[in-house]
Amino acid sequence: MASRPRDYQLLCEAFDGLPGIGAQAAERLAEWLVYHGDSRQMAEVLTRIGEAGLCRLCNRIQCQSECQVNVDGADYFLVASTEAALNRLFEIVDYQGPLFVLHGELSPASGVGPSQIGMDDLLASVERFPEASLLILASDSVEGRTTAEYIFRRSGRAGERVSVERACEILRGLD
Ligand SMILES: [Zn+2]
Repeated sequence: MASRPRDYQLLCEAFDGLPGIGAQAAERLAEWLVYHGDSRQMAEVLTRIGEAGLCRLCNRIQCQSECQVNVDGADYFLVASTEAALNRLFEIVDYQGPLFVLHGELSPASGVGPSQIGMDDLLASVERFPEASLLILASDSVEGRTTAEYIFRRSGRAGERVSVERACEILRGLD
């Protein structure tokens, strides 16, 4: 039996490395993408995203320049575990204060540790706002609670883990 091409194997491994996929689903995704999907377009999009880089302060690709450089004396620092949660918040309140997106939550069971989700960068960002307490938009799950507890412990800051709705209530109170 001929062995699989090296690049095909690498593609399977790349999908397998994504959270919640697993080896079998990774093979199905790779096969579909190679034989039915538009792998060229996907490659171009991924290349553009990779070259865009992340904002050092908020950890997002959408941010074209360093944000928050003119924000001083913030009462709150918003930490979002996902871009989706942050976008839901933006639909409700006009938040201009400091923020950081982790793009994931700690999950020791799935091998997601602090270095995988940029915890050191988050803590450095938080340091720039010494008066701010933390609003952590993380899920009400073991992973979300673990993530919030880790951030509170490492930063030594006060604050709370919040839902989008609760965060909006608190931020509206600032008006
Ligand atoms: Zn930014």
